[in-house]
Amino acid sequence: MELNYIALGIPAILLIIWIEYFYSKKANKVGVFKYESTVANLSVGIADRLFDLFFSAIFYSVYYYVYEHFHLFEIGKQWYVWIFLLLATDLVWYWYHRLGHEINFFWAAHIVHHQSEEFNYSAAARITLFQAFIRTVFWSILPLVGFHPDMVIPILLLHGVYSFFTHTRMIGKLGWIEKIMVTPSHHRVHHAANEKYLDKNYGDIFIFWDKLFGTYVEEEEEPTYGIVHPLTSYGFLWAHFHYYMEIWVAMGREKKWKNKLKLLFGGPESMNPRIRPILERRLRIYQNKLPMSSTYKSYINIQLALALIVLFFTVLLYKYMDGVSFVFICVLLVLTLINCGALLDHKSYAYYIELTRMFLTFLFLDYLIQGYWLSLSFLAAFAIVSIFYPIKGKYSEWVVGEQEKYA
Ligand SMILES: [Zn+2]
Ligand SMILES: [Zn+2]
Repeated sequence: MELNYIALGIPAILLIIWIEYFYSKKANKVGVFKYESTVANLSVGIADRLFDLFFSAIFYSVYYYVYEHFHLFEIGKQWYVWIFLLLATDLVWYWYHRLGHEINFFWAAHIVHHQSEEFNYSAAARITLFQAFIRTVFWSILPLVGFHPDMVIPILLLHGVYSFFTHTRMIGKLGWIEKIMVTPSHHRVHHAANEKYLDKNYGDIFIFWDKLFGTYVEEEEEPTYGIVHPLTSYGFLWAHFHYYMEIWVAMGREKKWKNKLKLLFGGPESMNPRIRPILERRLRIYQNKLPMSSTYKSYINIQLALALIVLFFTVLLYKYMDGVSFVFICVLLVLTLINCGALLDHKSYAYYIELTRMFLTFLFLDYLIQGYWLSLSFLAAFAIVSIFYPIKGKYSEWVVGEQEKYA
């Protein structure tokens, strides 16, 4: 049986997050984790891992294509090439990351990684596929120069693993290592919203690029984490698309193409900060700040746990999965992640997501057993029950009316 052992990374990441949580509690360190933020971070990470399954093969084939058709130098595969490649990868990363902060079109993808106001290993998982597309363009420089993709791909994986470990508040400064490597202390500065820490420490493995290009700052006081204008919602889709929408609206307000392009390729400082509140009002994006009962949290936890289990087996066994099943799983998982965000915000539209998800689950089961009666029976049962019982009303009351219990 051909299993994809990359799936084991999922329980490994969860274990590391749990250990960090355990130690933060033991050390009485406040504010390391926040329930809503952890759920939102994991939701973004789940979607990334899922879609990456499909796209990473395409990304890898791009590296081979570029190497075979366009490579500039014959670099070879000698042992010392690994060292040059590691340095070259880190340099490309530095510029990919820096431009990711300095150009709005790239920042729209990378901002998702910075939205978490809690800095921990769950925030490290907060990466998106949009970033992966942009990164692939940058990393194609390596095979273009002449580094063989057989070497490029393992180095890229190493990069991903290393940067995961720099997302923690539980590790202090690391002595002489701080001078060479990017450490948790350096990366805490990078995730800060404090004026003096903004747009600093872009490095991924080595810190000397920041020192060389003038973007290095040492951590002094503990940073405030997140983006300068924090989001007011834990909405899954909003987190992914709000900045693209802001750019779109800002461009729509400009008459001249030159100004439109300036917004697309200019920096975040060129954006009008009043656009987001307008969009939030128009789209009713906000979090109903209500307390959550333990049942309510358990309901979200079960959905997230199921999403993680489904993700694990999808990654492990995807070679045995047909296209239709994969599409069903993707849609069901994304609906679950949107639903978790809607529940965190106490939004009653979660009702429609739940209904759609239930129907599609039965439709998927029908597909697997080559039948049609499960989905039809569900529709019939739902129609009959809703005549005698106000399902929507009761559900909305539960999601939005939580505060009544605490009044
Ligand atoms: Zn960044
Ligand atoms: Zn980070």
